[in-house]
Amino acid sequence: MQCNQLINAIRRRLTISYAIEIHNLRKVYKVGSEKIVALDNVSLDITPGEICCILGTSGSGKSTLLNLIAGLEKPSKGTIKINGKHIEKMTEKDLARFRQRNIGFVFQSYNLLSSLTAQENVSLPLIFRGIKKQVRDELAADILAAVGLKRHLKHKPTQMSGGQQQRVGIARAFVSKPPVVFADEPTGNLDSRTTLEIMELMLEIAHENHQTLIIVTHDSHVASFADRIIHILDGNIQKIKKKENVIYEI
Ligand code: ADP
Ligand code: MG
Repeated sequence: MQCNQLINAIRRRLTISYAIEIHNLRKVYKVGSEKIVALDNVSLDITPGEICCILGTSGSGKSTLLNLIAGLEKPSKGTIKINGKHIEKMTEKDLARFRQRNIGFVFQSYNLLSSLTAQENVSLPLIFRGIKKQVRDELAADILAAVGLKRHLKHKPTQMSGGQQQRVGIARAFVSKPPVVFADEPTGNLDSRTTLEIMELMLEIAHENHQTLIIVTHDSHVASFADRIIHILDGNIQKIKKKENVIYEI
Protein backbone atom coordinates (compact mmCIF):
# COMPACT_ATOMS: atom_id res chain seq x y z
CA MET A 1 0.00 0.00 0.00
CA GLN A 2 1.33 3.42 -0.92
CA CYS A 3 1.94 5.98 1.78
CA ASN A 4 -0.97 8.18 0.60
CA GLN A 5 -3.40 5.27 0.62
CA LEU A 6 -2.29 4.29 4.10
CA ILE A 7 -2.78 7.82 5.40
CA ASN A 8 -6.27 7.97 3.85
CA ALA A 9 -7.20 4.59 5.34
CA ILE A 10 -6.11 5.77 8.80
CA ARG A 11 -8.02 9.02 8.31
CA ARG A 12 -11.20 7.10 7.43
CA ARG A 13 -10.79 4.96 10.55
CA LEU A 14 -10.35 7.99 12.77
CA THR A 15 -13.36 9.86 11.35
CA ILE A 16 -16.30 9.61 13.75
CA SER A 17 -19.36 8.35 11.93
CA TYR A 18 -22.55 9.91 13.17
CA ALA A 19 -26.00 8.36 12.99
CA ILE A 20 -27.45 11.82 12.30
CA GLU A 21 -25.73 15.01 11.12
CA ILE A 22 -27.76 18.16 10.64
CA HIS A 23 -26.28 21.41 9.48
CA ASN A 24 -27.77 24.92 9.39
CA LEU A 25 -31.38 23.75 9.20
CA ARG A 26 -34.05 26.34 8.51
CA LYS A 27 -37.77 25.84 8.02
CA VAL A 28 -40.11 28.62 7.01
CA TYR A 29 -43.87 28.06 6.75
CA LYS A 30 -46.02 30.42 4.72
CA VAL A 31 -49.48 31.10 6.10
CA GLY A 32 -51.24 33.48 3.71
CA SER A 33 -48.84 36.38 3.27
CA GLU A 34 -47.14 35.72 6.61
CA LYS A 35 -43.85 33.82 7.00
CA ILE A 36 -43.32 31.73 10.13
CA VAL A 37 -39.71 30.80 10.86
CA ALA A 38 -40.25 27.54 12.74
CA LEU A 39 -36.52 26.63 12.82
CA ASP A 40 -33.42 28.64 12.12
CA ASN A 41 -29.74 27.77 11.94
CA VAL A 42 -29.97 24.45 13.78
CA SER A 43 -26.89 22.19 13.67
CA LEU A 44 -26.48 18.96 15.60
CA ASP A 45 -24.64 15.61 15.45
CA ILE A 46 -25.96 12.44 17.08
CA THR A 47 -23.86 9.30 17.57
CA PRO A 48 -25.11 5.76 16.89
CA GLY A 49 -26.90 4.28 19.91
CA GLU A 50 -27.39 7.67 21.57
CA ILE A 51 -30.67 8.50 23.35
CA CYS A 52 -31.48 12.16 22.70
CA CYS A 53 -34.40 14.24 23.89
CA ILE A 54 -35.53 17.43 22.19
CA LEU A 55 -37.10 19.47 24.98
CA GLY A 56 -39.07 22.69 24.65
CA THR A 57 -42.41 24.38 25.25
CA SER A 58 -45.33 24.20 22.82
CA GLY A 59 -44.60 26.00 19.52
CA SER A 60 -40.81 26.03 20.05
CA GLY A 61 -40.17 23.99 16.87
CA LYS A 62 -39.64 20.47 18.29
CA SER A 63 -41.97 18.62 15.92
CA THR A 64 -40.70 20.63 12.95
CA LEU A 65 -37.14 19.57 13.79
CA LEU A 66 -38.13 15.92 14.24
CA ASN A 67 -40.17 15.86 11.02
CA LEU A 68 -37.25 17.31 9.07
CA ILE A 69 -34.73 14.83 10.50
CA ALA A 70 -37.11 11.94 9.88
CA GLY A 71 -37.62 13.05 6.26
CA LEU A 72 -41.35 13.73 6.71
CA GLU A 73 -40.89 17.36 5.63
CA LYS A 74 -38.29 19.13 3.46
CA PRO A 75 -36.11 21.87 4.98
CA SER A 76 -36.16 25.39 3.48
CA LYS A 77 -32.37 25.40 3.91
CA GLY A 78 -29.64 23.19 5.34
CA THR A 79 -28.58 19.55 5.19
CA ILE A 80 -29.60 16.33 6.97
CA LYS A 81 -27.53 13.15 6.88
CA ILE A 82 -28.75 9.86 8.29
CA ASN A 83 -26.19 7.04 8.34
CA GLY A 84 -24.07 9.15 5.99
CA LYS A 85 -26.87 9.68 3.41
CA HIS A 86 -28.14 13.16 2.54
CA ILE A 87 -31.92 12.82 2.83
CA GLU A 88 -32.79 16.38 1.79
CA LYS A 89 -31.57 15.60 -1.72
CA MET A 90 -33.59 12.42 -2.18
CA THR A 91 -36.63 12.13 -4.42
CA GLU A 92 -39.93 11.27 -2.67
CA LYS A 93 -39.65 7.68 -3.92
CA ASP A 94 -36.06 7.19 -2.70
CA LEU A 95 -36.90 8.88 0.59
CA ALA A 96 -39.90 6.62 1.20
CA ARG A 97 -37.70 3.58 0.56
CA PHE A 98 -34.93 4.97 2.79
CA ARG A 99 -37.41 5.60 5.61
CA GLN A 100 -38.77 2.06 5.38
CA ARG A 101 -35.27 0.66 5.83
CA ASN A 102 -33.75 3.07 8.30
CA ILE A 103 -36.40 4.83 10.37
CA GLY A 104 -39.06 3.90 12.93
CA PHE A 105 -41.57 6.42 14.28
CA VAL A 106 -43.64 6.46 17.50
CA PHE A 107 -46.57 8.92 17.55
CA GLN A 108 -48.28 10.71 20.45
CA SER A 109 -51.71 9.43 19.36
CA TYR A 110 -50.35 5.97 18.47
CA ASN A 111 -51.60 6.12 14.81
CA LEU A 112 -52.64 2.47 14.76
CA LEU A 113 -55.02 1.26 12.05
CA SER A 114 -58.30 0.66 13.87
CA SER A 115 -59.50 -2.17 11.64
CA LEU A 116 -56.32 -4.20 12.19
CA THR A 117 -55.28 -6.33 15.19
CA ALA A 118 -52.18 -5.53 17.25
CA GLN A 119 -50.25 -8.22 15.39
CA GLU A 120 -51.37 -6.94 11.98
CA ASN A 121 -50.45 -3.35 12.89
CA VAL A 122 -46.97 -4.42 14.00
CA SER A 123 -46.53 -6.55 10.84
CA LEU A 124 -47.10 -3.60 8.49
CA PRO A 125 -43.49 -2.30 8.28
CA LEU A 126 -42.36 -5.85 7.51
CA ILE A 127 -44.71 -6.07 4.49
CA PHE A 128 -42.87 -3.05 3.01
CA ARG A 129 -39.60 -4.86 3.64
CA GLY A 130 -40.79 -7.81 1.55
CA ILE A 131 -40.79 -10.34 4.41
CA LYS A 132 -43.16 -13.29 3.91
CA LYS A 133 -46.29 -13.64 6.01
CA GLN A 134 -45.30 -16.49 8.30
CA VAL A 135 -42.06 -14.74 9.30
CA ARG A 136 -43.93 -11.42 9.71
CA ASP A 137 -46.46 -13.02 12.03
CA GLU A 138 -43.69 -14.59 14.12
CA LEU A 139 -41.61 -11.41 14.39
CA ALA A 140 -44.70 -9.35 15.31
CA ALA A 141 -45.77 -11.91 17.93
CA ASP A 142 -42.24 -11.99 19.41
CA ILE A 143 -41.92 -8.24 19.82
CA LEU A 144 -45.49 -7.92 21.14
CA ALA A 145 -44.58 -10.52 23.77
CA ALA A 146 -41.42 -8.51 24.56
CA VAL A 147 -43.50 -5.36 25.17
CA GLY A 148 -45.85 -7.31 27.48
CA LEU A 149 -48.72 -7.94 25.06
CA LYS A 150 -48.48 -11.69 24.53
CA ARG A 151 -52.19 -12.07 25.22
CA HIS A 152 -53.26 -9.13 23.05
CA LEU A 153 -52.11 -10.23 19.59
CA LYS A 154 -55.66 -10.38 18.24
CA HIS A 155 -56.93 -7.25 20.02
CA LYS A 156 -57.89 -4.22 17.98
CA PRO A 157 -56.84 -0.72 19.13
CA THR A 158 -60.26 0.12 20.64
CA GLN A 159 -59.99 -3.00 22.81
CA MET A 160 -56.78 -1.76 24.46
CA SER A 161 -55.84 1.00 26.93
CA GLY A 162 -53.74 4.01 25.87
CA GLY A 163 -50.62 2.48 27.41
CA GLN A 164 -51.25 -0.83 25.62
CA GLN A 165 -51.82 0.96 22.30
CA GLN A 166 -48.53 2.81 22.72
CA ARG A 167 -46.80 -0.53 23.40
CA VAL A 168 -48.16 -1.68 20.03
CA GLY A 169 -46.89 1.60 18.52
CA ILE A 170 -43.44 0.92 19.98
CA ALA A 171 -43.47 -2.68 18.74
CA ARG A 172 -44.36 -1.41 15.24
CA ALA A 173 -41.55 1.19 15.29
CA PHE A 174 -38.90 -1.29 16.44
CA VAL A 175 -39.99 -4.56 14.77
CA SER A 176 -37.81 -4.16 11.68
CA LYS A 177 -34.83 -3.03 13.82
CA PRO A 178 -34.30 0.34 12.08
CA PRO A 179 -31.04 2.04 13.10
CA VAL A 180 -32.91 5.23 14.06
CA VAL A 181 -36.24 5.59 15.90
CA PHE A 182 -38.05 8.90 16.39
CA ALA A 183 -40.80 9.51 18.94
CA ASP A 184 -42.87 12.72 19.04
CA GLU A 185 -44.38 13.22 22.52
CA PRO A 186 -44.77 9.41 22.92
CA THR A 187 -46.16 9.75 26.44
CA GLY A 188 -48.19 12.92 25.84
CA ASN A 189 -51.53 11.12 26.25
CA LEU A 190 -50.50 8.86 29.15
CA ASP A 191 -50.59 9.06 32.97
CA SER A 192 -47.34 9.36 34.94
CA ARG A 193 -47.02 5.67 35.86
CA THR A 194 -47.59 4.54 32.26
CA THR A 195 -45.20 7.26 31.06
CA LEU A 196 -42.45 5.72 33.18
CA GLU A 197 -43.18 2.20 31.84
CA ILE A 198 -43.23 3.38 28.22
CA MET A 199 -39.96 5.33 28.58
CA GLU A 200 -38.20 2.38 30.23
CA LEU A 201 -39.48 0.06 27.52
CA MET A 202 -38.27 2.24 24.64
CA LEU A 203 -34.85 2.72 26.22
CA GLU A 204 -34.48 -0.99 26.95
CA ILE A 205 -35.21 -2.01 23.34
CA ALA A 206 -33.03 0.77 21.89
CA HIS A 207 -30.07 -0.17 24.14
CA GLU A 208 -30.46 -3.87 23.39
CA ASN A 209 -30.23 -3.31 19.62
CA HIS A 210 -27.87 -0.31 19.78
CA GLN A 211 -30.48 1.88 18.06
CA THR A 212 -30.40 5.67 18.05
CA LEU A 213 -33.50 7.11 19.70
CA ILE A 214 -34.67 10.73 19.36
CA ILE A 215 -37.58 11.70 21.59
CA VAL A 216 -39.47 15.00 21.45
CA THR A 217 -41.08 16.14 24.68
CA HIS A 218 -42.21 19.21 26.64
CA ASP A 219 -41.81 17.21 29.90
CA SER A 220 -38.44 17.58 31.67
CA HIS A 221 -39.02 14.31 33.58
CA VAL A 222 -39.30 12.42 30.28
CA ALA A 223 -36.18 14.25 29.03
CA SER A 224 -34.21 13.17 32.12
CA PHE A 225 -34.08 9.61 30.68
CA ALA A 226 -31.88 10.77 27.78
CA ASP A 227 -28.08 10.74 27.34
CA ARG A 228 -28.38 14.27 25.98
CA ILE A 229 -31.08 16.91 26.23
CA ILE A 230 -31.36 19.42 23.38
CA HIS A 231 -33.23 22.48 24.67
CA ILE A 232 -35.18 24.23 21.87
CA LEU A 233 -36.50 27.78 22.15
CA ASP A 234 -38.10 29.83 19.36
CA GLY A 235 -36.72 27.56 16.64
CA ASN A 236 -33.12 27.54 17.92
CA ILE A 237 -31.01 25.27 20.10
CA GLN A 238 -30.79 27.16 23.38
CA LYS A 239 -28.47 24.73 25.19
CA ILE A 240 -27.42 21.08 25.22
CA LYS A 241 -27.08 19.13 28.45
CA LYS A 242 -25.27 15.83 28.71
CA LYS A 243 -26.06 13.21 31.32
CA GLU A 244 -22.96 12.44 33.37
CA ASN A 245 -21.75 8.97 34.34
CA VAL A 246 -24.27 6.99 32.36
CA ILE A 247 -23.70 3.30 32.95
CA TYR A 248 -25.65 0.81 30.87
CA GLU A 249 -26.05 -2.83 31.63
CA ILE A 250 -25.07 -4.92 28.65
P1 ADP B 1 -43.73 22.17 18.86
O1 ADP B 1 -43.71 20.79 18.33
O2 ADP B 1 -42.52 22.54 19.65
O3 ADP B 1 -44.98 22.47 19.63
P2 ADP B 1 -43.93 22.97 16.07
O4 ADP B 1 -42.68 22.49 15.46
O5 ADP B 1 -45.17 22.17 15.82
O6 ADP B 1 -43.72 23.21 17.63
O7 ADP B 1 -44.21 24.47 15.55
C1 ADP B 1 -43.22 25.48 15.53
C2 ADP B 1 -43.83 26.72 14.90
O8 ADP B 1 -44.12 26.50 13.53
C3 ADP B 1 -45.14 27.17 15.53
O9 ADP B 1 -45.20 28.58 15.52
C4 ADP B 1 -46.18 26.57 14.63
O10 ADP B 1 -47.36 27.32 14.66
C5 ADP B 1 -45.51 26.65 13.26
N1 ADP B 1 -45.93 25.57 12.36
C6 ADP B 1 -45.71 24.25 12.53
N2 ADP B 1 -46.20 23.54 11.50
C7 ADP B 1 -46.75 24.44 10.64
C8 ADP B 1 -47.42 24.35 9.38
N3 ADP B 1 -47.61 23.17 8.77
N4 ADP B 1 -47.83 25.49 8.80
C9 ADP B 1 -47.63 26.68 9.38
N5 ADP B 1 -47.01 26.85 10.56
C10 ADP B 1 -46.57 25.75 11.19
MG1 MG C 1 -45.10 19.18 18.60
